[in-house]
Amino acid sequence: MTRCLNCGADRNEDVCGACGLSTAAAELFLRKRLLNRTAVFVLGALAFVAASVRYPPVELDSALIFIGVLFFPTLGLAILVERRALRHSEVEALKRVYYALVPIPWLLAILLVANGALDRGAPRIEHARVVGKFAMAGALPIRRLVVTSWRDGNRFERIPIDRGDFDTFRSGDFVEVKVQDGLVGIPWVSGVSSR
Ligand SMILES: [Zn+2]
Repeated sequence: MTRCLNCGADRNEDVCGACGLSTAAAELFLRKRLLNRTAVFVLGALAFVAASVRYPPVELDSALIFIGVLFFPTLGLAILVERRALRHSEVEALKRVYYALVPIPWLLAILLVANGALDRGAPRIEHARVVGKFAMAGALPIRRLVVTSWRDGNRFERIPIDRGDFDTFRSGDFVEVKVQDGLVGIPWVSGVSSR
């Protein structure tokens, strides 16, 4: 006895008693649904990156690493489910884990947007000195200003910065970093200016 790839019901015959699909049709439906959910997942990851550019958390790099660590195993899981479906092995449990992971990047993106867009608090001005900067070109270019930290236990902060500001600041400059507390308590940077 196996489970229907489409609805997950136990089936003894080629045609599923619960949803009426044959084994081949159920497989096709599953693959289509996997593809759709994968698209939703990838778009969610992009939405998260876009949100983190607009309302960058102070701990942006940790947030991006978290998304990266989530991203590749989740895609790997989708591939595994599809491979198993092709071999007509059991997929029900893995499929549920995959479907549960799909909305996570969207939830995190919404959290970041809400944290920044609905934050009505006044920014805190933190004084820092630029000690370096780095840029990485690519589809999602990364520009960071490395400044002395204002937080206990941290030596440096890597502040995301736009292209214009990136060219303006030099090592040794004194800057003011506008830090907001965030609606849900995720501190984020709303701007950097020279002092
Ligand atoms: Zn079925």
